[in-house]
This record gives sequence, structure tokens and C-alpha cells, in this order.
Amino acid sequence: MNKQHLITELQSQGLRLVDASVGASGRKGGAGPSDHKAVTVDGTTVMVPIYTGTASRSPYLAQVKQQTSQVVLEKGTEKGTEAIASIEFPHQPQFYNLTTADGIPYWKIALLHSHDVLATTIQQTCMRYRNSDTACQFCAIEKSLDAGRTIARKTPEQLAEVAEAAVRLDGVKHMIMTTGTPNSSDRGAAYLAECARAVKAQVDLPIQAQCEPPDDFIWFEKMKAAGIDSLGMHLEAADPEVRARIMPGKAEVPLSHYFKAFEAAVAVFGWGQVSTYLLAGLGDSLDTLVEVSDRLINLGVYPFVVPFVPITDTPLAHHPAPSSDFMFALYQQVGALLKQSGMSSADINAGCAKCGACSALSTFES
Ligand code: SF4
Repeated sequence: MNKQHLITELQSQGLRLVDASVGASGRKGGAGPSDHKAVTVDGTTVMVPIYTGTASRSPYLAQVKQQTSQVVLEKGTEKGTEAIASIEFPHQPQFYNLTTADGIPYWKIALLHSHDVLATTIQQTCMRYRNSDTACQFCAIEKSLDAGRTIARKTPEQLAEVAEAAVRLDGVKHMIMTTGTPNSSDRGAAYLAECARAVKAQVDLPIQAQCEPPDDFIWFEKMKAAGIDSLGMHLEAADPEVRARIMPGKAEVPLSHYFKAFEAAVAVFGWGQVSTYLLAGLGDSLDTLVEVSDRLINLGVYPFVVPFVPITDTPLAHHPAPSSDFMFALYQQVGALLKQSGMSSADINAGCAKCGACSALSTFES
């Protein structure tokens, strides 16, 4: 099986771990895709579901060989199991051992994603989350807060301290700052800018910010001036019916507002430095996802298509993940559009699309 197929299958079907303690801690709950663990397959680090119901039924199994500590990926077949690849798990980063002057462990402030990305949710609460009429059904943003694995609001000083250590001790290459949506018209842009300014004053680290489109696009210039290099504004789904069903609150922000915001943001951050998540498997058809990706690329926005991962304790916990065949076809078509346009994840300064670990898309770009 080639690498593209293997990564696509692992991300759709998940992985069973014989020893759940191997590698860096996974992500359970929190903003964005979750219930994952980083796995390196033939030099490419990807996030693979391991804590989900789908993963517990996956034919893929990671076995640790006692004598060599080598991890072997096996696939269950009708005849038994066959070893198909040797895989690795990135190590727990060193900055996780540190604690801020005010007594907060660094890992409650920011986490290592993939093998070289520092990711933080600067505000762990969202105005839409506590009401089922408005919450995005796939989201677990406040779960990690309820479980005591993070703090509600990270200060600019804490973020600067952790970012400096993560670069110095673990060679982190870029940083992602996302936020739950506050009930203010800037949609979190002001606080993202304040946090980015503090980090940039401490360490030279490319930063991507992620938020909903603010009402006034002047915020893009203010964010850029504060040191934010790239911006993510996440559609998640494109079909109006799917948006209304899966994310009733966010669907009240019309697609037309997103597209105006994309255009304004590309003018500030540059062609290919603005991106959006599209979660495949929530109901959008293949044609819809490819069409919207084409429209985004034409505007200068990178369409980061990722397979939806059902997260435990969310309303979509039992919603099926997309099939690997669906994802493969989607990656092939969006990958071809990216290639035609010359847009590449490697050219993005910072962010999820640059990291690429939640998707196999970057392996289809060339
Ligand atoms: S793609 Fe984004 S959410 Fe996924 S591992 Fe990378 S930084 Fe984290």
C-alpha cells in the first residue's frame, strides 16, 4: 500500500494501540479536530484517531516490539494480521516539564501538535458552545477545560514564556493561536493580536491566528501589524443545509460574509496565506467540496480538507467518519486544483494547512 493510501486509511479508520502510553500524549477534547495522536509514517507526521469508537474497531493495530522498542503497524485480515510498515511516535516534548511562575504547567497553556507545531486556544470558552441551538455539533472546545487539562484564558505573558521554551527546547517551527468565539464584534481578533504581539516580542516564531470573520475587516491589518503571519477562518461545511444542521449558530454568519472576509484577508496576508478548514464527512457532497475548494483557491485561500473525526461526548460521537475512498477522491481532485494554481502548504508561513497533519492533502499536492 502506498503512503497516500495508508495515511488516508489510517485517518478514516483510526488506529488501535496495544500500549496507549507510547509517544507524546494525544489530544482528547479541545478545539478543532481531537481524540488524535501523532504518528510518523515514512517521514510524514499525521494525526490519527485513537480515542474514538471508530478507532476501537479499526483493522490497524500498533504493536511495540519488546526487544527493540520498534513500533510495527499491523493490519488485521481474514487470515490474521500482517505487518505493513514501521511507524514512529514523536516524543513527549521537553517544555511539558516546565511550570510558569504562577504555577501553571506549560502543557495547560499550549500543546505540541504533530512534531514541530505549538498550538494554543487562547480563550477556551465559546459563546455558542453551551446552547444546543447554537453549538457546533462536532466541537469539544470546553471539554478539556471541564476536565482540568487547560485554563480558560491564557495570558499574553504565559504564551510568550511557553513559546520561547518550546522553540529553545523542542525546535518548534510555527505557532497556532485559535480562540473560542467571544460575544464581541471583533470575534476575538483584538485578543489574538495582543497575544501575538507578546509572543513576537519574546521569540521569532511564525504565527497563524484562527477566528471567525470579524465584522470590520480593519482587524486583518491590526492582526498583521501585531505579528500574525497567516490567518485561518474556518468554513467547516459549505452546503447551507449541512451548515444549518451541523453548526446552527455559525451558519447564521452567511457564506457571503466569509467570502468577503477571505478576499479582504488575502489582500492583507497575501495569496495562499489565508486558509479554511473543510470537514469532509459531515454531509457535503464530493462535488460541493471540490467546487468550494476551487472557488477558494481562485481567491487565494488554501482549502484545508480534513476527514471529520467523531469526538467522544459530542452530539456527533456516533456519526460515521468519511470512507477512505471518499477522502482519496477528494484529495486527488483538490490536490490537482492546488497543483494547477501553484498553491502549496509548504509556502504557508504558519498554521494547520502548513502542518498538514490532520489531513493527507499535502501528499497529493505534487
Ligand atoms: S493540522 Fe492543525 S490541528 Fe491538526 S495537528 Fe496540525 S496544527 Fe494541530
